[in-house]
Amino acid sequence: MSVCDDTLLCNFAKCRTKLSGFAWVTACSHVFCDQHGSGEFSRSPAICPACSSALSGKLDIVRTELSPSEEYKAMVLAGLRPDIVLDISTRALAFWSYQVHQERMYQEYSLSRAESQLKQMEKVLTQQNQSRELELTAMRGEINSLKKVMEEYKRKYSEVSERLMERNRQYQKLQGLYDSLRLRNMVVGVGERDTLPQPGHHNYKIGAAQQATPNISPQFPSMGHDGDSRFFSCLETDGAKTFFQFSSPTTERGRSFIKKH
Ligand SMILES: [Zn+2]
Ligand SMILES: [Zn+2]
Repeated sequence: MSVCDDTLLCNFAKCRTKLSGFAWVTACSHVFCDQHGSGEFSRSPAICPACSSALSGKLDIVRTELSPSEEYKAMVLAGLRPDIVLDISTRALAFWSYQVHQERMYQEYSLSRAESQLKQMEKVLTQQNQSRELELTAMRGEINSLKKVMEEYKRKYSEVSERLMERNRQYQKLQGLYDSLRLRNMVVGVGERDTLPQPGHHNYKIGAAQQATPNISPQFPSMGHDGDSRFFSCLETDGAKTFFQFSSPTTERGRSFIKKH
């Protein structure tokens, strides 16, 4: 707002520089810096770059010194009647107030444009914030549902591991039972070994090797027919009767086995 500094601005739209030195003043109440004035008004016919008025009159365009010398000020209106002096002054003041008014209008327009831009930006920002908020809420929901799924998996995992431990305990118990039976049968079989033939002796060894490597997998329940026969081969060696007297898990296969021998 160089008007406050008692200085007008060049009315050339892209210039708006503070006027100093010489200025080009037009009859349509516009003013331009020396550069734009000399450039625009050198052509013929001269057209005001601010309002497109034709400036054909001899005094329609005047190049004015903005800080005239004391001598000039002393002489320029000298000899004129007071009403003429006042008339000239009034016209000069009207020119000035028009420029100030135009500048004020321009500033107000700029302000309102900036305000509307600001409002637009605020609106966009608010919309962006709202969409971010929505995204965030959706993500939080997703995280919560994933947490629930994870909890469910954890629960299932602990259930399964609990079952596995239970199976393992059962397996260990059975293994212990099997070991004690084997020991017992060995002790019992020692007496008979001298007199009885021992066709399944090598099988017994395989069976022993099998149980010497305890495994967490439920090896015992998954034992197929081969496993069973190995088991029973061992019994055959040491006397099946003793085993069945002891715990009698008389399955069909066990019975048939005993009948065979
Ligand atoms: Zn200019
Ligand atoms: Zn003009």
